[in-house]
Amino acid sequence: MKHNFGAGPCILPQNVFKEAASAVMDFNGLSILEVSHRHKDFVAVMDEAMDLVKKALNVPAGYSVAYLQGGATLGFTIAALNMMRDNKKAGYINTGTWATGAIKEAKKIGIDVNVLASSEDKNFSYIPKDYSIPDELDFVHFTSNNTIYGTQFHAIPKTNSPLICDMSSDIFSKEINVADFDLIYAGAQKNLGPAGATLYIVKDDVLGKSTSPFMPTYLDLKQQIEKESMLNTPPVFSIYVAMLNLRDLIANGGIAAIEAKNNAKAALLYQEIDSNPLFKGTVAKEDRSRMNATFLLEDESHQEIFDKMWKEAGVVGLPGHRSTGGYRASMYNALPLESVQVLVDVIKEFTKKNG
Ligand SMILES: *Cc1c(COP(=O)(O)O)cnc(C)c1O
Repeated sequence: MKHNFGAGPCILPQNVFKEAASAVMDFNGLSILEVSHRHKDFVAVMDEAMDLVKKALNVPAGYSVAYLQGGATLGFTIAALNMMRDNKKAGYINTGTWATGAIKEAKKIGIDVNVLASSEDKNFSYIPKDYSIPDELDFVHFTSNNTIYGTQFHAIPKTNSPLICDMSSDIFSKEINVADFDLIYAGAQKNLGPAGATLYIVKDDVLGKSTSPFMPTYLDLKQQIEKESMLNTPPVFSIYVAMLNLRDLIANGGIAAIEAKNNAKAALLYQEIDSNPLFKGTVAKEDRSRMNATFLLEDESHQEIFDKMWKEAGVVGLPGHRSTGGYRASMYNALPLESVQVLVDVIKEFTKKNG
C-alpha cells in the first residue's frame, strides 16, 4: 500500500476512485468519457457538482459557482480581468510562487499592482502580518495556502476592498466564510478532484462590471455563470469525479469533520518534527500550513538513508518542490491519519538508528 503525500494531483478517497472507474465503463449505458455534456444525465451531474459546493461551504445566496478550465494559472488572469475597475489598481500579498504568478498575470493585463506585503525577504517562510491596505484598490488578492513553501493564512486580510483568494490548496479542508470574499478560485487537483476543472465561487454583484478594454468570452465570468459553465465543452470527467468527492465529503460529516481530521494529521506530524533533534520545520510555527508541511534534515548527509526508509515504508511524494528542496508532506483531505502515522513511525525509527 502506498501513502501519497504528493502535492497534487492529490489523493482522493478510494471509493471515489472506484465509482469513477465504474462510470468510465458504464454511466447509464455509455462511458462517462463519451457522454454528451448537453445530455440531461450530465447536466444533472453539473448541477449537483455546483449544489454540493454550495452545501459543503455554506455558500450564501447571491453567489454562483462555475467549473472552468485552465487551472488556477488561468484563474490569475480571470480574477484580475473580471475584478478590474476604474482605478485599475489592486493590492496583492506576495507569499510565494503562486502569489508571485498571480501578480505577474495581473500586471500583464494592465493592472497597477501594489504589493501590500511580501515574505520574500525570508524565502516565503512566514505570512506577513503588519501592513496597511490603502483604500481605492479595485480588489485585494491573496493565496490562502502557500503550497510550495508550506505556509497558510490562519486569518484573512482585513480590507474594505473586494477580497479575492486563490484557494487551490486548502479549499474544502477547513471552514471558511464565503461572504468574506468576492471571488474564490481553485484548481481542482489539490483537494477536490482530478486535474482539469477549476472551481470559481463568485459574488453575483461583481459580474459584468469589468473595466478591462478586452474581455475574451471564455474569461468572462458573467457569461460563464449565465451559461452554467456550459459555454463550451466543460471538463466532464473532472467535474464528475469532483461531484463524487463532494458527495463523499458531505456523507462523512462535511467540512467540520474533515477539518478536525486535518488538524489531527498536521498536529501529529508537526509534533514529531518539533520534538525531534534530527529534523526542523522550515516556516514560522504560527503560519504553518495544515495541508503542506515542509521540513528539513538537520544533517543533510543523512538524506540517502532517510529517503530509503520512507520509500520502503510505501511513502511517496515526499521530496520538497524543486525550488525549495527538503521535504514536503502534503496531507490533503483524503490522506488517512494512518498514513501520517506511518511517516511519523519512519521518522522515529530513523532517529533511533541515527540520533
Ligand atoms: C497548484 C497551485 C496553483 C497552480 O494550479 P494549476 O491548476 O496547475 O494552474 C496555483 N495556486 C496554488 C495555491 C496552487 O497550489
